[in-house]
Amino acid sequence: MLEGKKNITLLDSPRKIVITTHHKPDGDALGSSLGLSQWLRAAGHDVSVVVSSDFPTFLDWMPGREEVIIFPDQPDLVYRLFDEAEIIFCLDYSALSRTNILEPVIRGAAGQKWMIDHHLDPEDFADLSYWDSQAAATAQLVYRFICEELGGKAKLNADMATCLYTGIMTDTGSFRFKAANAEVHRIIADLIEIGVRNWEIHQQVYNSSTENRLKFLGYCLLNCLEVIPEYNTAIFAISKDDLKQFAITTGDTEGLVNYALSIKGVRLAGLFVDRTELIKLSLRSIGEIPCNEICKTHFNGGGHLNASGGSSNEDLLTVVERFKSILPQYAEVLTN
Ligand code: 5GP
Ligand code: MN
Repeated sequence: MLEGKKNITLLDSPRKIVITTHHKPDGDALGSSLGLSQWLRAAGHDVSVVVSSDFPTFLDWMPGREEVIIFPDQPDLVYRLFDEAEIIFCLDYSALSRTNILEPVIRGAAGQKWMIDHHLDPEDFADLSYWDSQAAATAQLVYRFICEELGGKAKLNADMATCLYTGIMTDTGSFRFKAANAEVHRIIADLIEIGVRNWEIHQQVYNSSTENRLKFLGYCLLNCLEVIPEYNTAIFAISKDDLKQFAITTGDTEGLVNYALSIKGVRLAGLFVDRTELIKLSLRSIGEIPCNEICKTHFNGGGHLNASGGSSNEDLLTVVERFKSILPQYAEVLTN
């Protein structure tokens, strides 16, 4: 699970470190990055967190969020940080393409790349990798990495624990997925003992919708949902006009796909959103239906068995039709 262990001694003295995560960071991406950055800083390192894009407003309360540097906002600073970095952490992704416009910057940087991640099929780019596809969240791995590899549990404070809790909470659908096993709950108990105010985190993340976002949800449920009963599948297809009409921003479509999965009998749910650059696709499933295989084979993406994403340059209708045409290949797992 830990490969490249000898490199860890680098952290014995203060280092210049850049932490990166995937494009459009989610709760786990941001939570693991901010949790680790604060721990490393407390241990004496010079740490920056760099991302390729903005992040959802429901994460805009997290301890340390003001330290996040968005590449397009401060490109010169980012190039300098990568030039100087001795270690570049790659959190919550295992394929460099997931960092979007940061990919060439990371590839070109001389510093060691240390990956901590839980996605399947990791690329071979890291000098050190702490990888476990069974882990519920990268934040869980960051916790393990700090406690078991760095012996640093005593330095975890309430702010760091809050970030890690948020990562685990969001990636487990609030502790309801299969990966939320006994170890995860033990870690959560530790984090609460360290000082996490868990009820406040749930409030911040899940009860912070704008009125507009809720109306958008109602609109999507009424107008954009299609159930395909013969394949126990349900999808949302959201057009550019839909997004414009409700002034939808990053993160506002988060969780929408779960409404399709919540229909009794539905085993595969899809969300297709016509973003500015391309069609972004999210898939969720139950049981053995391989979202990651579907995304990898047909939509230039990947992820986990039951939660994956991808994208396409085609137009919305074409992508949706192509998705439907794939369903017969999975008839057995979808209908039995
Ligand atoms: P979401 O549907 O929430 O965007 O992503 C679900 C899961 O699929 C996450 O674990 C995410 O990391 C992964 N994922 C999302 N989009 C992509 C993509 O374009 N490529 C790959 N390889 N994985 C993705
Ligand atoms: Mn994750």
